[in-house]
Amino acid sequence: MSTQTEPALVEFDEVLTRYEPLIGLETHVELGTASKMFCGCATTFGAEPNTQTCPVCLGLPGSLPVANAAAIEATIRIGLALGCRIATWCRFARKNYFYPDIPKGFQTSQYDEPLCTAGHLDVEVDGETYRVEIERVHLEEDTGKNLHVGGATGRIHGADHSLVDYNRAGIPLVEIVTRPIPGAGAKAPEVARAYVAELRDIVQALGVSDVKMEQGSLRCDVNLSLAPIGSLEWGTRTETKNVNSLRSVERSVRFEMRRQAGVLDAGGRIVQETRHFHEDTGTTSSGRSKEEATDYRYFPEPDLVPIAPDEAWVAELAAGLPELPSARRARLTQEWGLSPTEMAWLVNAGALGLVSDTVAAGASPADARKWWLGELARRANDAGVELSDLAVTPAQVAELAELIAAGTINDQLARQALDGVLAGEGNPGEVVQSRGLAVIGESDELVAAVEAAIEGNPGVVEKVRGGKVQAIGALVGAVMKTTRGKADAATVKRMLEERLSE
Ligand SMILES: [Zn+2]
Repeated sequence: MSTQTEPALVEFDEVLTRYEPLIGLETHVELGTASKMFCGCATTFGAEPNTQTCPVCLGLPGSLPVANAAAIEATIRIGLALGCRIATWCRFARKNYFYPDIPKGFQTSQYDEPLCTAGHLDVEVDGETYRVEIERVHLEEDTGKNLHVGGATGRIHGADHSLVDYNRAGIPLVEIVTRPIPGAGAKAPEVARAYVAELRDIVQALGVSDVKMEQGSLRCDVNLSLAPIGSLEWGTRTETKNVNSLRSVERSVRFEMRRQAGVLDAGGRIVQETRHFHEDTGTTSSGRSKEEATDYRYFPEPDLVPIAPDEAWVAELAAGLPELPSARRARLTQEWGLSPTEMAWLVNAGALGLVSDTVAAGASPADARKWWLGELARRANDAGVELSDLAVTPAQVAELAELIAAGTINDQLARQALDGVLAGEGNPGEVVQSRGLAVIGESDELVAAVEAAIEGNPGVVEKVRGGKVQAIGALVGAVMKTTRGKADAATVKRMLEERLSE
């Protein structure tokens, strides 16, 4: 670990007065195919180490790979969704390097003949659209996983010994590489995040990966360089590896901008290297110096036939693409009568899918938004979890809204019913039953509570009868208190008005 002190970080706003940032993103998506890229091994996440291996993915002599057609199809669909050109003929290549997690001594990847090229993805940040050019989308295989045992941090430093799990070795991996994204300026961190979020949503809509960043099925490397404003040359870039959440993508860009500006201000030089992002501190630290393509001695893979996708098949795949996230957002904005800003809030809150599913389960768009952006967002925030991690389903939220609409419960009781749902007591209807939460209708109990409120508050009654109609609120409050919130306030008010006008 380096002990040399780095120049002080520059304030973010100040960075922008002297430098222009240039971001670039390399995203790896682990495909959700049933079997690996070049063998029939299973790909289940979290299986016992080294139980999903065979001579092919262990690189044993004499074994021969066969390409997974489902993975090729998934890669082409990703390319088509990104507006890429699909190669009519391309090959796999061997990327040679020696690491314990790569049993063959090379990774089967694609080099100068990627399957998809020249696409783009438009992302929106604060109402501005940024076009991200996609340089290439290619197919390769994942590596195994090193486990460093005996150290405090799980890293190799201080570890007692290391183990390798080859279950992941050979799982199909799609790499999506952007061209450098100029012109983002102060929005560079947000543009980087928005790009990864949009890409994740596209891959999810295609159904080719579960894109779980926390499990590593979507991983992002963030390239960043700074150039003095007005300079015609780009600066030297660093590559921050395996940034594993959307928030970290944004933070790593922000940090690297501040760090690099500090180095450049002090008259230093940016070293082209890979860096590691640290979730806990929001900082990056130096990794290894970056290899050049020539270090990998790429050459065409002799054991695999070239990929030559039939044009008619590609056209069929293009025609069969699902509705993509941007089109879906535009449609729902219109269907639900939202402003673009309201839609942006929904998306930023991670609530679009949940609201959409709640509407599909029968709730009105207004009710669905009210619950997910209000009460549920508050609870997720208090618990420090994502909305989607709350123990309540869209169908249950729709049921809650339905119970309110039917007058079975009011908003206050609905919140108590929600407590029960979140505590695992069942669906809203069941919780209302078991906790006795239903509102009291025009029953003897409610009539008695109304009578008691009138008798107990002669001063208020006099005011109401004397024409101060707003004073009735105090009587409604008294009835609600007696019934512990189980009465319907509008019904109570009507009953009071009837009694007091007699
Ligand atoms: Zn295998």
